[in-house]
Order: sequence, then C-alpha cells, then structure tokens
Amino acid sequence: MAYVQGTTGEWEMVIGLEVHAQVISKAKLFSGASTTFGAEPNSQVSYVDAAFPGMLPVINEYCVEQAVRTGLGLKAQINMTSVFDRKNYFYADLPAGYQISQYTQPIVGKGEILLDLADGETRQVGITRLHLEQDAGKSMHDQSPTETYVDLNRAGVALMEIVSEPDMRSAEEAGAYLKKLRAILRYLGTCDGNMEEGSMRCDVNLSMRRKGDEKFGTRCEIKNVNSIRFVQQAIEYEARRQVDVLESGGAINQETRLWDTGKGETRSMRSKEDAHDYRYFPDPDLLPLVLDPKMVERVKATLPELPDEKKARFIGDYGLKPYDASVLVAEKASADFFEKVAKGRDGKLAANWVTVELFGALNKLGKSIDESPISAEALGGLVGLISNQTISGRIAKDVFEEMLKTGKSAESIVNEKGLKQVTDTGAIEEAIDGVLAKNADKVAEYKSGKEKLFGFFVGQVMKATGGKANPAMLNELLKKKLSD
Ligand code: ADP
Ligand code: MG
Repeated sequence: MAYVQGTTGEWEMVIGLEVHAQVISKAKLFSGASTTFGAEPNSQVSYVDAAFPGMLPVINEYCVEQAVRTGLGLKAQINMTSVFDRKNYFYADLPAGYQISQYTQPIVGKGEILLDLADGETRQVGITRLHLEQDAGKSMHDQSPTETYVDLNRAGVALMEIVSEPDMRSAEEAGAYLKKLRAILRYLGTCDGNMEEGSMRCDVNLSMRRKGDEKFGTRCEIKNVNSIRFVQQAIEYEARRQVDVLESGGAINQETRLWDTGKGETRSMRSKEDAHDYRYFPDPDLLPLVLDPKMVERVKATLPELPDEKKARFIGDYGLKPYDASVLVAEKASADFFEKVAKGRDGKLAANWVTVELFGALNKLGKSIDESPISAEALGGLVGLISNQTISGRIAKDVFEEMLKTGKSAESIVNEKGLKQVTDTGAIEEAIDGVLAKNADKVAEYKSGKEKLFGFFVGQVMKATGGKANPAMLNELLKKKLSD
C-alpha cells in the first residue's frame, strides 16, 4: 500500500472511479440515428435527439443486451426490472433540458473486478452499479472567436456508467482498474475503450484519511479525465493537495475539479451538485424496463472467455507465472498471438519470447501486436528451433533480429548463415582439446584452485565454435576434461 507522507504523519488515499463507456451499437439508445464517429457535425441527429416537441423515445434492445453482457462480464447482479429517470439540467448541448438516465433502479447492480498488480498480486474491487444513459451533444468552442457551436451527433448515444466502490488505495490500483475494465469491455465487444476518442471517460473520486483511520474523509471529484496516465497524475497531485489542506488545519470542500493537462494540476470547477439539484423523476415517456429471462440466458451462453479465465487457463495449460499470464491476456490480440506461438511447443519459452523479445521490439518500433513484422507462426518456428536444440538461446536472439529486419523464417536464416548448434560431442571435445592445449598455463592454475577460470575456457571454446556449441553440453564436457 502506498501512503502519502505528510508533515504530521502518513495518509491513505481512498479512490472510487466512475467510468462512462460508450456502448458499441449502430444506433443510439432511444433513436435510430447512426453513432459512427467523426461524421459531419449534426448529420446524425433524429428528431428525438434534437428534442423536437412530441417526439417519443423508443428503447434500442441491442443497447440493453450490451449492458446485460457487460454486467455478466463484471460478475454482477442483473436487475430484471429497471427504471429510466430524467436527470434535469440546463446546457446548450442538451436540447431536451434533461438526460435520460437510471437512478434508483439501474439495470446492473453489485459486481466485482480483479486487478492484476505489477508484483503479480491480485486485488478485488467492488462494482457498485452499471446504468444506461444518454450522452449529451458536444459544444465546440474553437470554431469561431465569438460563438460556440453545438454538434448533436453524440446526443442520445448510449453510455454505460460503471461506478466502483471506494476500494482503491493508490494511483497504481486506479490504473490497474481502468486497464482491466477496458480489457473486459473489449473482450465483450461492448465498448471499444478508446479514451482518446472519448468512448471511455473517467471521473476520479478521491479523499484522504490518516493511516489506520476507518472513517472516510470528504472527497473531491475530478471530471472527465481522458487517459489512464492522466488519471494517475491527477490522483498523485490531488492527494498531495488534500494532505496539504488538511495538515494546515483546513477542510476539503466536496467539489468538482478538473485536471489541467498543461499545468499538471487540478482546479476547482464548481461545488458538487447534490442529487436533489437534478430533480430526478421517472421518465413518463418510458415504461419500466423489464428483461426477458430468455434474452439474459442467451447472452450468458454467448459470453467469450474473459481475461481472468484465460489467465487461469494459461497458468494451468502452459505453466506460466501469474504475472506473465496477466500481461498476455491484457489484450485479446496478444493472448491469441501467444497461443499460436505456444501451440504444441514449450509454453513458458513461448511466453518469454512474446513478452520479452517481441513486446520489447514492438515497443521500440512503436507498433501494436497486430502490426508485428514477425508473425505468430514465424515466432513459433524460432521457439521450436530452440526447443529441439537446433540453436541456442543466445544465437536465437541474433536470428530474431534478422527476422525483424528481413521477414524471413527462422529456419531459412539458420540454414543460410550456418547457425545450427553443434551438438556433436566429438566436435565440441575437439574444440575443447584445442583450447586446453593452447592454454596449458591456465589449465594448471585452474587445477591448483583458480576455479574462476572456468568461464574463460567456456568463452574460448564458444569462440572456437563460432558461438554454436550447445552450452549445456559444452559445460558438461569441459568439466569432465578439466577434472581428468
Ligand atoms: P455521485 O453520483 O454524486 O458522483 P456516488 O455516490 O455515485 O456519487 O459516488 C461516486 C463515486 O465516489 C463512487 O465511485 C464511490 O466509490 C466514490 N466515493 C464515495 N465516497 C468516497 C470517499 N469518501 N472517498 C473517495 N471516493 C468516494
Ligand atoms: Mg459522480
């Protein structure tokens, strides 16, 4: 647990996150207008989205299924009856003057999410609820020096608001939560998790308490932070700010703040509104949402294998360490890639080549796994050559570099360059004899107790064989010769 050091003692962070996740669906939550990103402003707006008088919302069943699918993926309670409410507020990009949301009866109740932390540990965080609501339009302040334009393409798009319990205790945990939630949403195909395009946005709630205290302090909410890195930076900054206020005898106002990326600080936006400010009431245009149990069963039956289950399977089937397994399952594409490499081969070795060598190389190239210059089949070929002792791990690294550059298969590189490992005992012995004969003085020193020289002999023999001697055999044969 990471505590924040103050001048009067240590403080603990208490963090709860609210995530707005845009539902993957062709049409909006209550209208048939398209949701495609990046379209001409105001080209995807129905009369319902523009709140023309007399227009009635009609629920999009597919969005409801997506919310159910997400709820099941979060191992959460599915509420067979839920209610849509009007959340009233005035803003130029909200033509109706209210947002249709869910308040006291959300479609999904309590669930849980398992964080994968850097040390290979896991930690469970509670999900409080998930509800469906409409997105608002977008105000554009950069189109004219004197006017604000409004684009209603986003108005009415379905969002899932996913609220966590105040269970996180550090910026690292908040980051792990967002990564895991994003992975689950992507595996499920219910949200693309793209924070840059705004299809996943995060509000951070943070309060501080003295180490050992039970009672939570007063929280601030930092709105709409749009990357995981910024969430973590905002938490570190805000924690320090609150500690300074509390230690100088001040009190935290429950308020809404924003994260200023440029200045690297949080700033007060407004005092926190209470629920009664929104005058919530059930939307009279919509009946309570009653789910068909058959639909829930059908969605349940088609759930894909999710990151936690995949991780457990990788540990069980391939003997991977929990941390390596969690790195591989973090993105479905990496998990699939790994399985192709590992199939019928040494799983641990395959995991090592994917997570260390391949990820390292992709990182340097700034490429994603889908753009990997080495295919899973080709990397599998390389792993196979190490396993059957055609090449040593050392030589394999050179072959890998060559594969990256040329796109050739491991086998053809090994053949062309004559890199096959020497596993012929006779040939290795011959090389050893040569080295020992040339270094009779060192052999004498070794025999009189200077055992450090062993490494020197290994190096010389390797050199003599062009790095191709099988290391295990070399070690064994050399030891035997030197003890003769
Ligand atoms: P609102 O809708 O007003 O933002 P919620 O009750 O839905 O309020 O809570 C929002 C978030 O605040 C939740 O993620 C919750 O875990 C978190 N939270 C509640 N109390 C605290 C606290 N004292 N410190 C930190 N986070 C908190
Ligand atoms: Mg909130």
